[in-house]
Amino acid sequence: MERTDRGAAIGITEGGIPVKRARPRNQPTDNLAAKPMARGAWVGKCPMCGTCCSFLRFPPTDYAGQRVVRLVEFNSISVPCSCGRRFRIDGDDLLFVTIASLSIQRSSPDSFAVEQSSAATNVDLGPMSETDLWAYLNSRTLIDIIPSQVLAFLEVATALDMDMVLSVVWPPVAESPTCALLDPGILDKEFA
Ligand SMILES: [Zn+2]
Repeated sequence: MERTDRGAAIGITEGGIPVKRARPRNQPTDNLAAKPMARGAWVGKCPMCGTCCSFLRFPPTDYAGQRVVRLVEFNSISVPCSCGRRFRIDGDDLLFVTIASLSIQRSSPDSFAVEQSSAATNVDLGPMSETDLWAYLNSRTLIDIIPSQVLAFLEVATALDMDMVLSVVWPPVAESPTCALLDPGILDKEFA
């Protein structure tokens, strides 16, 4: 399920700012216009619980592999996480991710129908027991919610829609040292 479209976009550094650079229009490898749009957003990852926090200032946008510029004007802020703790984050700590929606419906006391959707793709993850669901949620990077809150919500409601990370397009700067070291000229040859 995790997928990064390396052929369509290349990470380079322009003036120290990692950017997402789209493949030149005269070298199409696939029909970008026909590609279903995914949702993408800058998020911050809580170092304590691993959940990602979204920012109202940066709502999700349609994403189809186009250029994405890291937010340089992002000042260090303290972010409240769903786990109850706070963490400090600045622009270099942000990740750009694509987002999948998870629709969970309680179909019986210990059975949940779970469907994942992103762009035009819906994946039926089948019926899950509470134990299965717990394991699944803990194996994913959730956005603005932690696994125990999902189960607590489903105790009182029969359905929940939530977001999770589908793929990481841009990791934090500290986790992508190769992006800063790569020569854009070499990348052009390699991926052209
Ligand atoms: Zn947290």
